[in-house]
Amino acid sequence: MFNALVVNKDEESGKTSAAVTQLGLDDLPHGDVTVAVEYSTVNYKDGLCIGPGAGLVRKYPHVPGIDLAGTVEESSDDRYKPGDKVVLTGWRVGEAHWGGYTQKARVNADWLVPLPEGLDTRAAMAVGTAGFTAMLAVMALEDHGLKPGHGPVLVTGAAGGVGSVATAILAHLGHEVAAVTGRPEQEPYLRSIGATQIVAREELTEATRKPLESEVWAGCVDAVSGVMLGRVLKQMKYGTSVAAIGLAGGAAIEGALITPFILRGVNLLGIDSVMQPYDNRLRAWTRIANDLPMDKLEAMVQPATLSDLPQLGADILNGQVKGRVVVDVN
Ligand code: NDP
Repeated sequence: MFNALVVNKDEESGKTSAAVTQLGLDDLPHGDVTVAVEYSTVNYKDGLCIGPGAGLVRKYPHVPGIDLAGTVEESSDDRYKPGDKVVLTGWRVGEAHWGGYTQKARVNADWLVPLPEGLDTRAAMAVGTAGFTAMLAVMALEDHGLKPGHGPVLVTGAAGGVGSVATAILAHLGHEVAAVTGRPEQEPYLRSIGATQIVAREELTEATRKPLESEVWAGCVDAVSGVMLGRVLKQMKYGTSVAAIGLAGGAAIEGALITPFILRGVNLLGIDSVMQPYDNRLRAWTRIANDLPMDKLEAMVQPATLSDLPQLGADILNGQVKGRVVVDVN
């Protein structure tokens, strides 16, 4: 028997409830690899799936947790053998499939990535989907020409998970990082992980009818969207790119005009972590092991256990989680 966070749905009221529950190996779904999970994380999507699901979860009982890292216990796939350290993010694990809030998981071998040298399972989960996606964004900006010395790179939602990791990676690579936050009390934290400039959220939350604003940013990692992304696009320097990751501030790009694209050659790069092909996953995890300083990563970590998850799920939906939560499932 082992412990997992199980979400059940009351068919009559439609209400869901999450509780730590004992399961057996026979309860696990089919898959080619059984993993002894060591750590998981809390991402925005986890907040949704620990709660009512927002349409992401189709079948109950459900085990949420979009990320996991652990050791292979059993494998019928040649690529993995018992003892291998692995990490899993995306592929709708934790939403359409059972996820990482468990001491044992059975998964499809195609979803796994071997842990790169230099990262242990705890560090991998300090990174998690949020940090992995932040690295995909940095790689996309680099692939579109961003280099240190080009000017300040803006990170929105900077005190959150995606924003914190993006800030630390960019700073480590030698970029000036301007961190947008709605939590001024997080300034010392943001500076400690590498931000050189703090931008108050309110400076970017009012839509403007101007077609363009002064050119300021050499790149942007955006976790917020909404009015903020509409404003940021108008402030990008000529020929630069914004990597769009998230929608913490709204699902539409509000107040955006075509002008930054056609007059300044600005690019809007969409970043998806869920269906990312294996080769690019490997590239991103290897870059994370090399370009994310572990002391900065440690400064972002808030430790938690399975029983803390119902509260943490609500907190992340309210924008109240700082940095990265690492869940020790054991
Ligand atoms: P967090 O909740 O940790 O961070 C989001 C941050 O955004 C908050 O900490 C806050 O930062 C800021 N924020 C929250 N609400 C608002 C608002 N109304 N207006 C402006 N800023 C706001 O979440 P994550 O970092 O884990 O995820 C961020 C986003 O990225 C989510 O929308 C998530 O779904 C998405 N995402 C997408 C992925 C992909 O594959 N494309 C993968 C991972 C995440 P501060 O307090 O500093 O202002």
